[in-house]
Amino acid sequence: MSFVHLHLHTPFSFLDGTSSIGQLLDCAASLGFPALAITDHHNLSGVVSFMKEAERTGIKPIIGAEITLSEGGGHLILLATTRNGYINLSKILTRAHLSSQRKEPHVAIDYIEKHHSDLIALSGCEKGKIPQLILNRRFEEARRVASHWSEIFGREHFFLELQSTFRPDQPRLNRTLFELGRELGIGLVATNNVHYATKEEFQIHDVLTCIRTLTAIDEPHPDREINGELYLKSYGEMHTLFKEFPNALLSTLEIEERCEKFTLSNPGPPSFDAPGGDSFRFLRDLVYEGARSKYGNITRTVEKRLEYELSIIETLGFTSYFLLVWDLVRYIQSRAFRYAGRGSAADSAVAYCLGITKVDPIARNLSFERFINPQRAHNLPDIDIDLDARYRDKALEYLTEKYGEEHVATVCTFYRYRARAAIRDVGKVLGFPENELDKIAKLIPWSGADEIEEALLKYPELRNLEIPEERFTRLFELCSALSNCPRHIGAHLGGVVITKEPIITISPLQKSAKGIHIIQFDKDDVEQLGIPKLDLLNLRMLSAVEDAVSSIHVREEEFDFDRIPLDNHQTYELLRTGETAGAFQLESHAQRSLQRRLEAENIDDIISSVALIRPGPVQANLVKPFLMRRKGRKKVVHPHPKLEKILKKTYGVVLFQEQVIEIAVEIGGFSPSEADSLRRAMTHHRSKAAMEVIGRRFVENARKRGVKREVAERIFSYIRAYAGYGFCEAHAAAFGDIAYKTAYLLRHYPAHFYTALLNNQPMGFYPPHTLVTEARRRGIRILPPDINASMIDYAVEIGNIRVGLKQIREFGNTDLHAIVTARPIRSLQDFLQRVRMKKNLVENLILCGAFDRLHVNRRRLLWSFMDRPSEEPFYLDTPIHRIAPKIDDYNQMQKFKLEWEILGFSPTTHPLALLRDELKRMGVMSVKEVKECGETKAKVAGLIVRPQRPPTRSGRTVIFLTLEDETGLLDITIFERTYQSYGHLIFTQPLLLVEGKVDRKEKGVLIAEKIHTINSTPRL
Ligand SMILES: [Zn+2]
Ligand SMILES: [Zn+2]
Repeated sequence: MSFVHLHLHTPFSFLDGTSSIGQLLDCAASLGFPALAITDHHNLSGVVSFMKEAERTGIKPIIGAEITLSEGGGHLILLATTRNGYINLSKILTRAHLSSQRKEPHVAIDYIEKHHSDLIALSGCEKGKIPQLILNRRFEEARRVASHWSEIFGREHFFLELQSTFRPDQPRLNRTLFELGRELGIGLVATNNVHYATKEEFQIHDVLTCIRTLTAIDEPHPDREINGELYLKSYGEMHTLFKEFPNALLSTLEIEERCEKFTLSNPGPPSFDAPGGDSFRFLRDLVYEGARSKYGNITRTVEKRLEYELSIIETLGFTSYFLLVWDLVRYIQSRAFRYAGRGSAADSAVAYCLGITKVDPIARNLSFERFINPQRAHNLPDIDIDLDARYRDKALEYLTEKYGEEHVATVCTFYRYRARAAIRDVGKVLGFPENELDKIAKLIPWSGADEIEEALLKYPELRNLEIPEERFTRLFELCSALSNCPRHIGAHLGGVVITKEPIITISPLQKSAKGIHIIQFDKDDVEQLGIPKLDLLNLRMLSAVEDAVSSIHVREEEFDFDRIPLDNHQTYELLRTGETAGAFQLESHAQRSLQRRLEAENIDDIISSVALIRPGPVQANLVKPFLMRRKGRKKVVHPHPKLEKILKKTYGVVLFQEQVIEIAVEIGGFSPSEADSLRRAMTHHRSKAAMEVIGRRFVENARKRGVKREVAERIFSYIRAYAGYGFCEAHAAAFGDIAYKTAYLLRHYPAHFYTALLNNQPMGFYPPHTLVTEARRRGIRILPPDINASMIDYAVEIGNIRVGLKQIREFGNTDLHAIVTARPIRSLQDFLQRVRMKKNLVENLILCGAFDRLHVNRRRLLWSFMDRPSEEPFYLDTPIHRIAPKIDDYNQMQKFKLEWEILGFSPTTHPLALLRDELKRMGVMSVKEVKECGETKAKVAGLIVRPQRPPTRSGRTVIFLTLEDETGLLDITIFERTYQSYGHLIFTQPLLLVEGKVDRKEKGVLIAEKIHTINSTPRL
C-alpha cells in the first residue's frame, strides 16, 4: 500500500513554501513515495528543478499548480496528466497573470472550461470554493458548484479534496464532502497541503507567512497556521488520519497512474524566411559577403575557418538562430544604435563576418570551440549583444513585432534571500526597530543570509555597532534558514528567448514590474532545457560614447569612434599614469594600479588588463608573474616550443580560456571539442580527484606525441594553477576594444567625454563629484547651472562643462522644459511671472547659483519670498529690491554646503579646498604633493571614494579606496591590521585623514597606518 502527495508547495510559491525542492524530493524518497506532485501558487517556476531532482531521486514527478478563481472563487489544484495538459495549465496560468492586476493573478472558471483537457482538478484547501460554502453552511450552493465543476472537468477528472490537519472545522467539513461525493458520484482525494518537508520547519514557514502578510510575530493573521501539520507526512501518518476515508488515499494512486511522465521539449528557434528558401545557403552567402568586405581577399586560412564553423552550425541546427541574430543586428545598424557583441560569440569568425561581433577571431587566433563545442551536452550558442541603454527596448520591440508576441519573452530572475534582505524582512517580523536593522543591513557586505554572524565578527565596521548578541541570535538563525530562498520574481536584465512554438508550450507568461512579458523560468532553467537565448544588455558606456561622439561631431564631422587608431601613443601615455577615472573597464582602483605598473604599449596589453583584474587571476596570483615577464624582469621560458605561439601574447602566463583549449590540442593531442570539455570540467568541478584524472590523461596523450613526461607534467601544472579561473579572450578582446577607445576619448576629448559620462549617470565606478574633480584637474572649468545658459543636460561650452539643469535636486521633466521655453529670463521676478513653479524648486535654483548672473546675492534673493506658502506655485508681485534691502550673501562655506546638497558637488570649489589652510597647519599634504614628494611618510585628507574589499589569495582582508581632494585622486591600500583598528571609520565617514607610508614600488599609492576623522568636516 502506498500514497502520493498531490498538493505540495515549494519555495516557488514565494514566501509560502519553505523546503528546497531537493530537500522535498530527498524526504519523499526516504519515505518511500513512488511519486510526488508540485503545485505552487500560480506558477511553474519550480518545474525544471523539480523534474531534475525527481530524476535524481527516482521519483515520478507530477506537475501542477494551485490557482485562484476569479470573483472569490477560491483555490483550486490543477494537475497535468499529459504534456498537452501541461500546455493547457500554462495557458490558464498565463491568462491568470496577464488579465489580472500584477501580484493578484486569478482566472475565470469559463476560461478553464475551454482548456480543461488532460487536466485533473482537486477542489483545494479550505480556501477552495466548495469548502468555503460548506463551512458557511451554504450546502445547496456547494452541491451546485461541485456538480458544475464535475461536468466541466468530467467526472473522472474532478476530485473533492480532504485534508486532515487538526483544524477545528475539519471533521465536519470532511464528512460533508464525503456525503457530497457519494451523492454526486465524485471521487475523494486526501492531501496534506504540504508547505515544508519536516515538522521542525514550521517555525520558518510561519516567519515566511508573516513576511508575506506583513504581520508581526506576535500578531494574529488568518493565513498563519495554528499548528505545524503541513509537512510531508508518511504513508503511515496519512493512513491513520484518513482511516474513515480509505478511498481518498487510494485515489491518489489512481491519479498518479493517470499522470504520464513527460518532458519539456525545446520549442526551437523560429525558422528564418530566407530568400530562395534555403536558409543555410543564404547564411553562407551572407558570411562570405561579410568576409570579402572585412578581409578583402579571402585566404585559404579564412576559408577553412569559415567552412569549419559553418559546417558545425549547420549540423547542430543553429542556422536559423544565426540568421535571426544577423537580422536583429541589421536592424540595430539601420537605426544607428551603438552596439557591441561580447562574450564567447567573439570567438566565431561567422559572427564576425555577419557583423554581430567586432573582434576578428582569426587574427587573434581564437578557438571557435570555446563558443560552440560540438561535443558538449548542452550546445547553446550564447550570443550577447551590448546596446546603448536607450535602445535595448527598441531592439526587443523589433523582435516582438517580427516573431509575434507569443514567441518572444524575457527570461526571469529569482531574487533570493541574502544577508541584507533577510535582516530587513525577518527583523521587521520579529519587531526590531527599523533604524537598528537599517544600520546593520547598510554596513553588511554582500554575503549570504547564512554568513551574518561570521560577518559580525570579521568586519570592524560591524563589530563597532556593538550588537547585543543574545537579542539578535534568533534573528540571525532565522535569516540563515532563509538563505537562498526565492523571495520574488523579476525580469532578467538581458536574456531573451525567441521560439518557434509559442512560448507558453514551455512556460506561462507574466508581467514584470515594468510591464514586459517574462517567462517563469530563469536562465539556468532555460539552459537546462536547451533553449537558446539571446542576451540583449544595456550598456550605459555605449550611450555615453554615443553622446560624446555626437558632441565631437559638432566641431569635427569626420571623427569615427570605430576607427580610432589602436596605436595612439598619447593614449598609452595616459594609461601609464593610471589617471583613467571614467575609462571603460580601466577605471577601478585595481585597474589604475595595474596600468601604472604595466605600462601598456599595445591593444593586447589592454585586453590582458581586462582579463587580469578579475577575482580568478588575482586569487591565482597571476598578476605579478605577468608583470615581471612583461617588463622583462623575469625571462619567459616556454617548456615546449609549441607553447610559444600560444602563450606569446600573455608572456607565458595562461590567462585566457582559449589558451587552455589550444594547449590541450597542441600538446595533449585532444580534439578541440575534447579540449573545451576539459576546460569546462576544470571550471566546474575543481575537485582534486577529477583534476588528477584529467592530468593523467593529458600527460599520457602528450607522451604519445613525443613530449617528455616532466615537460608534460609541468605544462599541466600551468593549466591546473589556472583551473578555469581565467577569462574568455574573445570577451576580453571585445571589452578591451571599447576600453582603449574610451581612454582615447578621455585623452583627446576630456570635456566631451566627461560631459557624456555625467549625462548618463548612474554608471561606471565613480560618483559625479569625482568625475567633476577629475575634469577640473584636467583644466576644464565646471560652469555652474545657469537659468539662461544651462541646457537640461550637461553640455560642452567652449571646452568647459556647463552643469545641466537636470542635476538640480527634485526637478522633473515638466519643470525643466518650462524653464527652457521661458527663455530669455531677465530676472527672478520675470521668471516667476511667466513660469509656474513650486517654491522649493525656485529655492533650489537660487541656492545652486542658477540666478547668479542676474542677481549677485543668493541670500537676498531667497529672502524675497520667504513668507510664501511652500507648496503652491506663486507669482512674485513686489520687486525684489524693495523686499530685502540689506542682507549679506552666504559665505563661501555656506554656499558650498548648499550646492553640495542640491547638486551633489560644488561647481566652484571642492570641500578640501575650503579646509586647506587648516589642513596645512596640521601638516596635511594635498594629493598632488604626496604624488610628487620624495618623502616616505605622508598625511593626506580627502573624500572617501568607493572603498572595496576584493578577494585575496591569502583570504586576508585588504581594503582599497580612493581619496579625493581638490588636486586629484590618491589610492589608499589598507591592510588587515590597520583595517581591524580603523575599519569602522571607512564605511561610515564621508571624509577622512590618512597617515601612512608612500608605496616605493608604486608611486601614487599610500599604505595606510592610521586613520582619523576630521573635526571641522563640512557636513556632506
Ligand atoms: Zn490553497
Ligand atoms: Zn496549497
